[in-house]
Amino acid sequence: MKSFYNLPKEIYFCEKCVLSNQVPSSIPEFLHKPSREGSKYLEINRDKNGRRTCAPCKVHEMKNKTDWDKREKELLKLLDKYRSKKGEYDCVVPGSGGKDSVYAAHLLKYKYGMHPLTVTWPPILYTDYGYQNFKNWIEIGGFDNISLKPNGKVQKILTKLSIENLLHPFQTFILGQKNIGARMAAKFKIPLVFYGESDAEYNNPISEFSAIRDQKYWLNSNKNKFYLSGLPIKKLMNNYNISFKDLQNYLPLDKKELGNTKIKYCYLGYFIKWTPQEAYYYSVENTNFKARPFRTEGTYSKYNSIDDKIDDLHYFTSYIKFGIGRASYDASQEIRNKHITRDEGVKLVSKFDGEIPIRYIDEVLDYLDIKKASFFKLVDKFRSPHIWKKTKNKWKLRNPVY
Ligand SMILES: [Zn+2]
Repeated sequence: MKSFYNLPKEIYFCEKCVLSNQVPSSIPEFLHKPSREGSKYLEINRDKNGRRTCAPCKVHEMKNKTDWDKREKELLKLLDKYRSKKGEYDCVVPGSGGKDSVYAAHLLKYKYGMHPLTVTWPPILYTDYGYQNFKNWIEIGGFDNISLKPNGKVQKILTKLSIENLLHPFQTFILGQKNIGARMAAKFKIPLVFYGESDAEYNNPISEFSAIRDQKYWLNSNKNKFYLSGLPIKKLMNNYNISFKDLQNYLPLDKKELGNTKIKYCYLGYFIKWTPQEAYYYSVENTNFKARPFRTEGTYSKYNSIDDKIDDLHYFTSYIKFGIGRASYDASQEIRNKHITRDEGVKLVSKFDGEIPIRYIDEVLDYLDIKKASFFKLVDKFRSPHIWKKTKNKWKLRNPVY
């Protein structure tokens, strides 16, 4: 059976959570060609008892065996080396004011005495809750913040093209957000960038669960090779009359931008035991973080990734392309943290995964100037035959999680 996007043809699931081997890794987004979503897919290997275990579950098991006191000492040593005595910015915390960035910035400033500069790549279309949480982060939490809203005209073109070419409504946001920490650190010559959780806790290889990330990751070597929105950079510039400057924020830094600053990129989640629920309670308490009073479409949760109206559509398209929707990610994380059992997770996935996000869809498609009927026609083109079958005019997953 044919598979799109170079996806593994045989579909199987982690036996501990509900993720499958079809989940794309988030690196390197900027290299995507139209036919490829990611260069790698979720690692699932057998553990010593023969049970299929995905990388995030393995990372979780490693976390359970970690001596966290020792890790915190490592963190203190690192921070002591970089803490500014004059109160200058000594670290960058990229974020939106969601629970994870609140937690990271607040701990660094108030528990560890650092002087963070928070930096934000704002959502494409803010939700009211997202904007209020962002304001509370800065105003109640007490942080300096730099938000970089990119050229809106260009962002709209790129976002529309990402949908048409890759069915990826969130590519511009993901790329901008990924690169803004390094970009601002270089601009202001700040030596540390702190993220919260490692991507290895979601979809990336285990090797990425480490204290410090290599600078090379944020450096671009040959911009002519890159693709954005499924098109080569040069074509994008020529056909749409976009300058390189207007694309730069979506790309990793080049050597000139970086200059001589040596930057360390760290995950706080490597040094302290990070649980999403705790980050949530902490941010409620410290910056009056608010979950939405309603369930997020496509899942059962109310507090994960609620800033951008486009986010719900992003998870819906992930369900179309990979058979994995938002409830699968939420349930997997909660299974690992023992908030629900795997059986409960399977039920939640079959109930909520792939639900069409109707709350914002009209507004989002209006903004992008895409007709709803043509959007759904497009959606069907991105269903890989090895994931989907059509019976009695209805699309069904060939291999739902069980
Ligand atoms: Zn797993």
